[in-house]
Parts: sequence; structure tokens; C-alpha cells
Amino acid sequence: MRSPLASAEPEVPCAECLTRVPGIKWGDLCPDCRGRLRARANPLARRISLLASLLVVLYAWFDVPFTPKNRIWVAVIAVGTYFLVRKMATQILMEYMRRDQSRRS
Ligand SMILES: [Zn+2]
Repeated sequence: MRSPLASAEPEVPCAECLTRVPGIKWGDLCPDCRGRLRARANPLARRISLLASLLVVLYAWFDVPFTPKNRIWVAVIAVGTYFLVRKMATQILMEYMRRDQSRRS
């Protein structure tokens, strides 16, 4: 249930470009700024996650006996690592770039 005050809540300005956008909280970014930040973070996040899954494969190459069943597992884990690390790296990089940006301006 919405409180009766909800409609009276002021639109909050984006922390970056100061455009007033309904539905964001104080200190949040508007969808535009979030998208820009994500686009900047993505290439690096992709490289980091590729490296991480490469390390998984490398580790498996030397330490796991090479059976067909193990190969499937290694592939599954490597792909899982790629997506997990990519998600985390994107979030961390976005937060980092945002702080870096606001420190400089
Ligand atoms: Zn913005």
C-alpha cells in the first residue's frame, strides 16, 4: 500500500547529471547515467572475467585428471565463472568509476 505522502514525494535529482527522475532514491543515478557507466565498465569487466575463466581452465588442465566427464565439468565451471565474475566486476567497476568521477569533478 502506498502511503498518502508518496504522491507528494519530490522527484529526486540524479547524483550525476542532476536531472530529476521519478522513482530513484537520493544518491542514485538516472537510467541514462547508469547506462553510460555500464557501457564504460563493460569492456574491462569482460576482460577480467575472461582471464578468470582462463585461470579456471588452466588450473583444471594441470590439476584435474583428463576424463570426458571432467572435461564437461571444467567447461561448465569455466562458463559459470565467466558470467559470475563478469557480473561482479561490472558492479564493482561501476561503483569505482562513479566514485572516481565524482572525486574529480
Ligand atoms: Zn543522470
